[in-house]
Amino acid sequence: MVAKYSTSPPAIAAKLRTADSLCAERGKRLTPIRRKVLEILLAEQRSVKAYELLELIRSVQPGAAPPTVYRALDFLVDEGLVHRLDAINAWTACLDAAGEPHDLLVVCTQCGAVAELSDPELSRQLAGKVAAAGFVLSSHETELRALCNKCRGHSASHGHVHAHNA
Ligand SMILES: [Zn+2]
Ligand SMILES: [Zn+2]
Repeated sequence: MVAKYSTSPPAIAAKLRTADSLCAERGKRLTPIRRKVLEILLAEQRSVKAYELLELIRSVQPGAAPPTVYRALDFLVDEGLVHRLDAINAWTACLDAAGEPHDLLVVCTQCGAVAELSDPELSRQLAGKVAAAGFVLSSHETELRALCNKCRGHSASHGHVHAHNA
């Protein structure tokens, strides 16, 4: 299941307060642009591509320059407030930034839905296998490319499920 949360203004305000205090605890600052980027991603509650995010930002802050927005995203990713999704080249707000770090992100490559999973034991095993092969994981998050039930049902109903697309 893909976790959902309320996108009502009070719910988003509460998430922003959590982000504020997480940053403060770590001696970091949630500057206005970082806060705005996070707020937009929280309100969208979906994966957003860089150009979409830039458009959304510019609708409230017309002069926003791409490098500023990218730097804000980098900060939010570093602080675990936002997840970067390489599989679809997009970003999504973390659903539970104050909870356990997420080690598995399941990403629907069709619609961008994300499920955040935690399985430290599985991650340990994975890191062990990777180490045995002579590598070190460069991220603590493992991204899994997938199709959500909705998208899978959709393509199945059209009879175009390809056996090799796993
Ligand atoms: Zn998360
Ligand atoms: Zn999907």
